[in-house]
Amino acid sequence: MAPEPRGFAGRAPRAAGILGFTQASSFRPTAGLSGNQPLAVTDLTKKSLALDFRLPGWGTNLRIALFSTRSAGNVSAYCSALLSKARQVCAEHGMQIISLDFTDEALKDTDDPATTDEQIENVLNRAKSAAQNRTKLGDLLVIFCPSTTADTVNPQQEAGRTIRGVGGVPRLPFILINTLTSNPDQLTLIHEMGHAAGLNHEPLFVKRTMGTGALAYLTSRGVRIENNFMSDENRTSRRDMFAFQVGVLGTAFFGSPGNIEG
Ligand SMILES: [Zn+2]
Repeated sequence: MAPEPRGFAGRAPRAAGILGFTQASSFRPTAGLSGNQPLAVTDLTKKSLALDFRLPGWGTNLRIALFSTRSAGNVSAYCSALLSKARQVCAEHGMQIISLDFTDEALKDTDDPATTDEQIENVLNRAKSAAQNRTKLGDLLVIFCPSTTADTVNPQQEAGRTIRGVGGVPRLPFILINTLTSNPDQLTLIHEMGHAAGLNHEPLFVKRTMGTGALAYLTSRGVRIENNFMSDENRTSRRDMFAFQVGVLGTAFFGSPGNIEG
């Protein structure tokens, strides 16, 4: 999805401290290097970009709570399809999704679509109070709702959005799944979970944090970055997850050690 004004836009890519990002040091000697010189692809970079990384031991549980608005209608089949794909991608890397599914009982007073800021706030507040009653704190809230393209101020055409604070007020991110459109690869849920954990789109993030050399390295290994689950350019065949992305998801606020049942 494209960066959204209230969601991910403007957020600088995080670079430090995650599975060996190779950050350009500001004290790095630059003699003889032009500004466009790719950074050297170190062993650490290669490890960060491995596609077969699995969290050790029991892995991590990612906890989500699923809700739907009255305006969404029956979302059971769509919800199952998105969950199934998300579980499939996560399982390969030692992560399980623990989901609490409340979508069979629509949130109260949510007959409108969730398109305008006001409507979105209403939906979130309804989900929050439902969550307080029925789930533990720390679950990532995922709300199935229609977000129409008809709104002239804030038309929504994306299959999913990760929304953070409004007006500069920080809060935990939550996810809206738009029931009016979907992506062919059904990767929307895990893609948005990646955003909620702090990941940005690829190849932008790798390029900015590891340099163009890292992209060339991937190409030389036959890895097509558009197949990455955080790609915004491909919506038909995403499936790959880099080691550093597993690290970010595994330490997300909605994650907990895998030996503790969600
Ligand atoms: Zn996105």
